[in-house]
Amino acid sequence: MRIGIMGGTFDPIHLGHLFIAEDARVRLSLDVVHFIPNGSPPHKSSLEIIPSHHRYEMVRLATDANPYFVCNDIEMNRIGPAYAIDTLEQFKADFPDSQLFFVTGLDAVTEITSWKRYHDVMELASFVVATRPGFHRSSLLSRLPDVYLSRIEIIESIGLDISSTQVRERIASGLTVRYLVPDEVLDYIDQQGLYGPEIGAQV
Ligand code: ATP
Ligand code: MG
Repeated sequence: MRIGIMGGTFDPIHLGHLFIAEDARVRLSLDVVHFIPNGSPPHKSSLEIIPSHHRYEMVRLATDANPYFVCNDIEMNRIGPAYAIDTLEQFKADFPDSQLFFVTGLDAVTEITSWKRYHDVMELASFVVATRPGFHRSSLLSRLPDVYLSRIEIIESIGLDISSTQVRERIASGLTVRYLVPDEVLDYIDQQGLYGPEIGAQV
C-alpha cells in the first residue's frame, strides 16, 4: 500500500491543502492520503491557533467527499508537541508493508534539518513537496545533504496562493472566503463563529 501523509495545522483547511494532496495522490498513485491535524504544533504557540477539535472537524468535513482521503486523529491526543517522526513511526508500526509519502508544501520542508531526528524521518518516508508561491526550491535543496535529495520529489504545482493566515485575516476583516475553503468548512466557520474579531475567545 502506498500511503500519503498530509500533516498541518489546518487553521482552517483550505483548497490549497486539498489540491496538493489530490495532485500528489494522482501523480504518485497513492492508495490513500491521511490528513493529520496537528494537536499542539511544536513551532506554533497554542494561543495563536484555535482548539484542535474545531480544526479536526473542518478537516473531516472537507475530506468527507473524497473516497481516497482520510481524516486521522493520531496527533490530536498526543500529550506535548507532535513531531513528524513520532507519527511516521506509528504508521510504520501499524502498516509495516506500506510505503510512506510525506506530502507537504515547499515552505514546510525548508527547515527540515531542524526537525527532531530528521535523518530518521528521511529514512522512513519519501517526500512529495509541492511548490508554493513565494518559496523557492533552492532554499530547500541547498540545505539538504545530497544523500537525501533522491528522497524528495518536487511537484511543480499550479501556484494556488491561499494560506490559512489569509483566510483568518479575511474573516476577521469581514471579507469573504467563499471559494477559498470548501462550502462545508465555510458553513462550519459561520455556525461556530470562528475567526471573528474576538479571535482566541472561542472554546
Ligand atoms: P498558516 O498560514 O496558518 O501557516 P498554511 O496555509 O501554511 O497555514 P498549514 O496548515 O501551515 O497551512 O500547512 C499544512 C501543509 O500544507 C504544509 O505542508 C504547507 O506547506 C502546505 N500548504 C498549505 N497551503 C499551500 C499552498 N497554497 N500551496 C502549497 N502547499 C500548501
Ligand atoms: Mg503554514
